[in-house]
Amino acid sequence: MQIQTTGKLLSIVLLVDGVVSLGFGLASWFAPHATLGTIVAIKGAGSDSLIMSALGALSLMYVLLGTICLVSAALPLAYRIRFAVVLALGHLAMELKGLNEFGHDWLIGNPWPDVVIHSVFVIAYLVLAGIAWRGIASTLPYRWRTRMRERLPWFLIRLGIAGKGRDCEAAGGTHDWYNVDGNKSGCYHCVVLKPGQLWERSDA
Ligand SMILES: [Zn+2]
Repeated sequence: MQIQTTGKLLSIVLLVDGVVSLGFGLASWFAPHATLGTIVAIKGAGSDSLIMSALGALSLMYVLLGTICLVSAALPLAYRIRFAVVLALGHLAMELKGLNEFGHDWLIGNPWPDVVIHSVFVIAYLVLAGIAWRGIASTLPYRWRTRMRERLPWFLIRLGIAGKGRDCEAAGGTHDWYNVDGNKSGCYHCVVLKPGQLWERSDA
């Protein structure tokens, strides 16, 4: 799959997740009995104002979550992938919590649709994030080694840990030039040296 297509699909999943969360948050805020009240037995749950306060906080969290999803759909792909993984973990936690609560007497609605919806989001986020991440990694080979070199102590780098790659272009990616001596260009990520001031162009 093309990386642009994967990125667009990831945005679509984030938008759908955002609209569902935002919609549910607003609906449950204004009509808790018509929404949350069909899932859990609100009446008879002890202090009514306490349970309504707790459910109100839940509604606001859904509004916040939905807004974050909508905003993250417009972020650059590298950030969208990170949000997707975090949201997938969130949906997984919600799903496990839902499964664990099967059989409680206060659970009055059918819990399965909720579990299925969370599973769909977990799978969609993780599959698309995985494909997109591999796509980015293949156009930017050896970048992770550069990042490791920036963090490792010098003696480990001397031993050859996280050394530069052989050739970014041969690996299907692009170089990232810096000024070696005013005339030659070196790549931050691989050992290729080229004549000319290529860093001038890569800064643009
Ligand atoms: Zn390179």
